[in-house]
Amino acid sequence: MTAVDLSTGRVFVAGHRGLVGSAIVRRLQRAGISNLLTATRAELDLRDQAAVNQFFRLQRPDFVFLVAGTVGGILANSTRPAEFIYDNLMIHATVVHAAHLYGVRKLLYLGSSCIYPRECAQPIREEYLLSGPLEPTNEPYAVAKIAGIRLCQAYRRQYGCNFISAMPTNLYGPGDNFDPASGHVLPALIHKFYQARLHREKSVVVWGTGTPRREFLFVDDLADACVFLMENYDEAEHINVGTGKDISILALAELVRDAVYPEGLIELDPSMPDGMPRKLLDVSRLHRLGWRHSVELPEGIARTVRWYLDHVAPRQ
Ligand code: GDP
Repeated sequence: MTAVDLSTGRVFVAGHRGLVGSAIVRRLQRAGISNLLTATRAELDLRDQAAVNQFFRLQRPDFVFLVAGTVGGILANSTRPAEFIYDNLMIHATVVHAAHLYGVRKLLYLGSSCIYPRECAQPIREEYLLSGPLEPTNEPYAVAKIAGIRLCQAYRRQYGCNFISAMPTNLYGPGDNFDPASGHVLPALIHKFYQARLHREKSVVVWGTGTPRREFLFVDDLADACVFLMENYDEAEHINVGTGKDISILALAELVRDAVYPEGLIELDPSMPDGMPRKLLDVSRLHRLGWRHSVELPEGIARTVRWYLDHVAPRQ
């Protein structure tokens, strides 16, 4: 294995304004990596191959964190399937192709744990990919994410590119999308409990039965894992990134309630979709490499609530 030193080249973070991209930028800046390349959506449409080629031709990145994409929670995934499959397929393809054309030394592609079959054995091992039907609520997104893994592997096999893939579990943290309609469960619940407290409402509606189980990773831990993998992982096979612990949605709602509005009541709405019954990653490969998360869920929630109160709440 060849250890990579990110300070020896130019590092492009594709998607630097998003939850993950902004955390990777923070992590790299903390490590004193100053040769960062970024482009806003207005400056560069990552779905446009010609524009992406032009960017790579002019900027010549050596290392690429491919963490851009159209993302959202269970409702956004079910109501905007075309955007989720088109945007993500295109973004993965253009960036991977340009990285090959312009001689990028290493690329890390970030997928998602929704790539795994709905009825997977738990915890989910990397080799369960494509072993059964996908969860319907996010299938278009998952298909695009699976295509991203296969893209990286195909470019590795045909052209010898050092492109690797990491599959994170559900993420949360500063910079998340707190919109209750399009966001994921954790930021949506922070927003809903805050609004209920503000407007002196008795209860908050939590979608579904409360029984699905999810694993949550604080985004700064994910950013640390991405840098660790960029530096230390060189295999064709994708690798899971998570904490190895999961929690029911009802128990998560109670944690968020206690952090934001302890007097609030929880009202379940079983007419809303549950999605995958359980999504717990087997992270033993990552642990064997020597990486572990450091922020536990209650602390991560407290840090995310603080960020929400400073950045989002004042605009309400
Ligand atoms: P998923 O992991 O792809 O299913 O993404 P989500 O984070 O959107 O949803 C996780 C689980 O939380 C699902 O079972 C949802 O039904 C449940 N959930 C409960 N309340 C909410 C909410 O207010 N917003 C979202 N997005 N999910 C919620």
